[in-house]
Amino acid sequence: MAFDYDPQNIFARILRGEIPNKTVYENDHALAFEDIAPQAPVHVLVIPKGAYMSLDHFAMEATAEEQVGFMQAVAEVCKQINAEDGFRAIANTRDHGGQEVPHYHLHILAGQPLGKMLA
Ligand code: C5P
Repeated sequence: MAFDYDPQNIFARILRGEIPNKTVYENDHALAFEDIAPQAPVHVLVIPKGAYMSLDHFAMEATAEEQVGFMQAVAEVCKQINAEDGFRAIANTRDHGGQEVPHYHLHILAGQPLGKMLA
């Protein structure tokens, strides 16, 4: 499928410094920041710096270096949030996945029991 990235989406604007964010970690390829409307005591979003609209777009078209950089950011977030008790990672994707911001982002939720989503 063709991935049609909108450069005016809110996370693209955060990456350009047009909108502030509470940065948790940053490297050359990814930014991690606190979600503005947290759904758990810890709610961090990890986003690639490249123009990828979704998890599948990122997985199919990002370079190996970008993918490694992204996962390094995930690792750093996991270190910072004291992940021993566990966490949930979610990538809402397009309409059926409930994605609102069309720039790939991985939600990392932690800090309390989160219940079971899948049987
Ligand atoms: O997966 P989905 O696209 O629905 O999630 C978007 C997330 O981006 C929401 O959790 C929302 O609170 C967050 N957000 C944010 N900062 C903004 C705009 C949205 O953290 N400026």
